Amino acid sequence: MAQRTFSIIKPDAVKNGHAAAVLADIEKAGFKIVTIRKQSISKEQAQGFYYVHKERPFFGELCNFMSSGPIFLMVLEKENAIADLRKLMGATNPASAEEGTIRKKYAKSIGENAIHGSDAEETASFEIGYWFAGYELI
Ligand code: GDP
Repeated sequence: MAQRTFSIIKPDAVKNGHAAAVLADIEKAGFKIVTIRKQSISKEQAQGFYYVHKERPFFGELCNFMSSGPIFLMVLEKENAIADLRKLMGATNPASAEEGTIRKKYAKSIGENAIHGSDAEETASFEIGYWFAGYELI
């Protein structure tokens, strides 16, 4: 059965001109783009989105980075979407990401790592609802 996940093309990938290549990789891997929106987000919106990380030492840096330039917010669908997108993304630190993964190809550092993908069903459902209204997801 088809599953939905939430993803962001992060500011570094957009700024470096990799958005279309990332989307192509996502489509080639069999994901349907249910909805997509390009926008800039505020630091406060980033803090709300990443609230689970609020005690982590990199929280401030992460929220500054995510609000530093335009991003693409999207909902993706396929069978096993959550795990399959995580595989396609590669490890958080691009230096240890597998060849062929989005982070290996397009990211430069553990902080500025090109793409976000939900890590579980519960987070996917929170993250989709944080950025999109029900009528946008039909
Ligand atoms: P992910 O699920 O692979 O995105 O990784 P995490 O959930 O552990 O972290 C969320 C995001 O925080 C990562 O994608 C990075 O953008 C950022 N992040 C994680 N670790 C670090 C770090 O050590 N330094 C900085 N600056 N950012 C980090």
